[in-house]
Amino acid sequence: MTAPAAPLPFLPLTRPTIDDETIAGVAEVLRSGWITSGPQVKAFEAKLSEYFGGRPVRVFNSGTCTMEVALRIAGVGPGDEVITTPLSWVATSNVILEVGAKPVFVDIDPVTRNLDLNLIEAAITPATRAIIPVDLAGLPVDRDRLYAIAKKHRLRVVEDAAQSFGSLWRGRPIGASGDFVSFSFHPNKNITSIEGGCLVLNDDREAKLAEQYRLQGVVRTGFDGIEVEVLGGKFNLTDVAARVGLGQLAHLDEFTARRRELARAYFERLDTPAVRALGLGLPVADFETSNWHMFQVVLPAGPGALKRAEVMARLQAAGIGSGVHYPAIHLYALYRRLGWKDGDFPRAEETCRNILTLPLFPAMTHADVARVADALVSILQAHSQP
Ligand SMILES: *Cc1c(COP(=O)(O)O)cnc(C)c1O
Repeated sequence: MTAPAAPLPFLPLTRPTIDDETIAGVAEVLRSGWITSGPQVKAFEAKLSEYFGGRPVRVFNSGTCTMEVALRIAGVGPGDEVITTPLSWVATSNVILEVGAKPVFVDIDPVTRNLDLNLIEAAITPATRAIIPVDLAGLPVDRDRLYAIAKKHRLRVVEDAAQSFGSLWRGRPIGASGDFVSFSFHPNKNITSIEGGCLVLNDDREAKLAEQYRLQGVVRTGFDGIEVEVLGGKFNLTDVAARVGLGQLAHLDEFTARRRELARAYFERLDTPAVRALGLGLPVADFETSNWHMFQVVLPAGPGALKRAEVMARLQAAGIGSGVHYPAIHLYALYRRLGWKDGDFPRAEETCRNILTLPLFPAMTHADVARVADALVSILQAHSQP
């Protein structure tokens, strides 16, 4: 008789990889006597700027305030409209409300799951000032078409690239070109500073304004004076966080390569006639531009289909985490109160009801991917062949 196999450890949806060098670096910062914004922030900004081909970059304490600040620099406010997608983290449209402007959602392309660029021009009105596209799961929105539309209609763009750090467009990093580009360093993102984010800007004037909006609008004048001209927030990143970000940035290429490799392994298991027959929707098989921030499937829908919550519960029982990214923004209570309702964006709603994020992070193994894929397939098969 053989002993029963020990249960496999729980596999979370995601987990950051922090090396010992970074941990030692954090300890050094903590002992240095300067722990809030200082030399580490400057060093992190310099490295990021280098990565983005020399464009000005400022770091912040989230990838939400970065977008709010970009909108403020662009002068977007009450009476203005900003076009965006209903399939994103709610931060994307909350920042539009935060500056007093009106979100204008356009439906998604169900293949890319990003906003459908074909629908943008019909949504533009004389009040439209900006577009906030989102690269869901790291798959870039078509930047050539996006900027052609923005240029034609003289619109600003605030790229919500929270999920696409390390993704490419025409062989260059997302952020190396474009208008405002915002990234998040939340622990679930491809690189982290615990909490944090950065904003890529166009010139020194915008960078100076970004610094003011980041810290109470303050500018220093001489040795003993300060002046306040704009209403700023409290959005500065600490040196401790910046040191974590620096340690992460050094591993970016390795993290991205590993995520791509694991995504390929998911395709090997799931992109088969037998799995396709179950009605499982797969992401775009993009191994050139995407950083594979997430691996998201769309579960089979319809009256007889297994409910997503049930699939998640069965995965959980098998020791596997999963997640929903995201419910449709326009159907949250806050947004319903502002007038949106079921049926406004049918393709986003359909995808949001059935989308499921599977575990994908650099420390995962190929055996982990096989375990997740096999568990999902057997859950779906058991239901389709009762
Ligand atoms: C994570 C995320 C944000 C917000 O980033 P925070 O750093 O958590 O504020 C915004 N938009 C998208 C698409 C995100 O995934």
